[in-house]
Amino acid sequence: MLEIRDVTITYGKHVALDRASLTATQGRMVAILGANGAGKSSLLGAVGGRIRPASGDILYRGKSLLRLPSHRLVEEGIALVPEGRGIFPAMTVADNLALGALPARAGQGAAARMDEVLTLFPKLAQRRGQIAGTMSGGEQQMVAIGRALMSNPDLLLLDEPSLGLAPIVVKEVFAALARIRATGLTILIVEQNARATLELADDAYLMEVGRITKSGPAADIKSDPAVIRAFLGGS
Ligand code: ATP
Repeated sequence: MLEIRDVTITYGKHVALDRASLTATQGRMVAILGANGAGKSSLLGAVGGRIRPASGDILYRGKSLLRLPSHRLVEEGIALVPEGRGIFPAMTVADNLALGALPARAGQGAAARMDEVLTLFPKLAQRRGQIAGTMSGGEQQMVAIGRALMSNPDLLLLDEPSLGLAPIVVKEVFAALARIRATGLTILIVEQNARATLELADDAYLMEVGRITKSGPAADIKSDPAVIRAFLGGS
C-alpha cells in the first residue's frame, strides 16, 4: 500500500534521513521508533507531503506521491495528524471535526462519519459543544485524530500522538487506534514511547540518527535483547 524507497532528506548540509526504506501493508499498524532527532518526523513529513526528499521515492498504491502537490494527498486518502495536533483551539469539538470533512473525498457521508468518530471517541460525543482549547491534552489528541478520520482516509499518519499525555490517557488513545485499525485503515505511527507502541503495532522500524537500523514484526522487535537495552530501559 505504501512503499518508501531509499528516501534521503537533507536540511542544508545536514542529512536528517539517509536512504530509508519502509513498507506498510494494508490494514497494518506500522511504527517508526527512535530517539529525539533520529529523523522520524522528517520521514513522516515526506509521506505527508510536507517535506520534499532529496532523493528516493514514495509510492502509494503503486503511484509516486512525490509528483503530487501536497493538498492532493488527502484526496488520495492520506491524512496526517501532526505533532502538536494542529486543532483550532477557539472552535468547538464539533466544528473542528466538521472541518475535517471539507475535502471532496469526504463526500456526502460526512454526517455518518461524524457519528462513527463520536462512537469511536465517546468523550467527544459528550463534549461536542466544548471549545477544543479548553479540553485536556488527551481529548485534544482525540479531536485531532477524529478530524483526520473525517476526510475518509485509507492511510492515517500519526506524529507522536502520546507526546505529553499521562500513561492512562496514552492507553485510551492507543485503544482508539486499535479500533481504527480494526476498521481496515493502515496506520503509520511515529513514536518515542516505544514500549506502548510495540504492544499495539504490527510492524516496527527502529531509527537511529537518520538511519533505519532494525525492522520486523513488532513482536520480534519487542523481544530483541539489543532493542530492550536501547529502547525499553533494560526491562
Ligand atoms: P523529534 O522526536 O524531535 O521530532 P525526529 O526523530 O522526529 O525527532 P526529525 O524531527 O525528523 O527527528 O529531525 C531529524 C534531524 O533533522 C534532527 O537532527 C533535526 O535537528 C534536523 N531537522 C529537523 N527539521 C529541520 C529543519 N527544518 N531544519 C534543519 N534541521 C532540521
